[in-house]
Amino acid sequence: MTKKERFAFVLKYFETHVPNAETELIYDNPYQLLVAVILSAQCTDKRVNLTTPAIFEKYPTVETLSHATFDELFPLIRSISYPNNKTKHLIGMAQKVMEEFNGEIPATVKELITLPGVGRKTANVITSVVHQQPNMAVDTHVFRVSARIGLTTNATTPLQTELQLLKYIPEEQVHIAHHWLILHGRYICVARSPKCGECGLRPACKYYHQLIKEA
Ligand code: SF4
Repeated sequence: MTKKERFAFVLKYFETHVPNAETELIYDNPYQLLVAVILSAQCTDKRVNLTTPAIFEKYPTVETLSHATFDELFPLIRSISYPNNKTKHLIGMAQKVMEEFNGEIPATVKELITLPGVGRKTANVITSVVHQQPNMAVDTHVFRVSARIGLTTNATTPLQTELQLLKYIPEEQVHIAHHWLILHGRYICVARSPKCGECGLRPACKYYHQLIKEA
């Protein structure tokens, strides 16, 4: 199977079986999504979803968050990973959005990555989820699943994975392909023991074909 055929198989499979993939983070607007994605670094979406309602109740807008103090915000996120840094990042992000972006969450990767706590992955998530821009956010699931299937070859960094995926995925499918790969990694192609027995991608998967060869 050529790389082109492998991509075609995988995209067709997801298109047919998972037509409505979307983020599992709960949010109502770009501000809430940005807060949730910043909090989700090294943390499960489930835990973030348990944490955010109290934050959004106390700080319903980016402006209200920009006035928060560390001591006020910290207790609301102390149960998730890296609460110190994330508290500082959230307040810093809100202040910068107020000062430099007129209170509007930026809509480009270039602007988003200037905000505290926002790296390329987070900026790609925001622009693809909110604006359907063809930006591929590569997290641990996307990185692992793409390598196992053989969508990427010898990629050693998220950026290499991102660029290899973008080469083959049609622009209009990039934003949903991100969710397909994440959900597949979260529930089927899990890190320790991928559930190949129940995976519809077997015909196109390099890892699976290697397993068969070695059996
Ligand atoms: S066949 Fe196995 S390794 Fe390949 S994508 Fe499916 S679960 Fe992952």
